[in-house]
Amino acid sequence: MRLLTPSWRVKSIYDIDLRWLKARSIQGIISDLDNTLVPWRDYSVARELKDWFRRLHDEGFRTVILTNARPAPTIEKLASELGTGLVVGARKPIVRYFRYALELLGTQPHSTCVIGDQVFTDVLGGNLVGCHTILVDRIGNREFVGTRFMRFLEKLVLARLGERSSCSRNGR
Ligand SMILES: [Mg+2]
Repeated sequence: MRLLTPSWRVKSIYDIDLRWLKARSIQGIISDLDNTLVPWRDYSVARELKDWFRRLHDEGFRTVILTNARPAPTIEKLASELGTGLVVGARKPIVRYFRYALELLGTQPHSTCVIGDQVFTDVLGGNLVGCHTILVDRIGNREFVGTRFMRFLEKLVLARLGERSSCSRNGR
């Protein structure tokens, strides 16, 4: 269960307290894309998202988007507008892809936070590689068909965690 437990749970990326990250000496952020930063497959960049990334960078955080989505010009454009690193065509939760993202950031797992909307890809992979993990509520209801079965399992896991909260911590 520990590997499926996020360090922190929040409603959206905008609820992430940067002081919380700094207090844990986090320097690098690996973020999922679909349903975490933007609605599923909607790669237009909202002002709010752009501002959020600017703030992260101003505060000294290094960022990379790690997504299982296939390479696409729209995704590359989004990453360049946000001024962030990008790894597409990943296969989360396979650890190799998280290691690659860490290499791009140049940070250690203990000083890196993985943010995502899925327990079995983002949280599991991030925990396996030794990063801090933040689970956000997914944006919208649309997603890849194959994800729906995982959502069912995810519900079981989250119920087991007791829905402990907007602020569950696994002790890190
Ligand atoms: Mg996602």
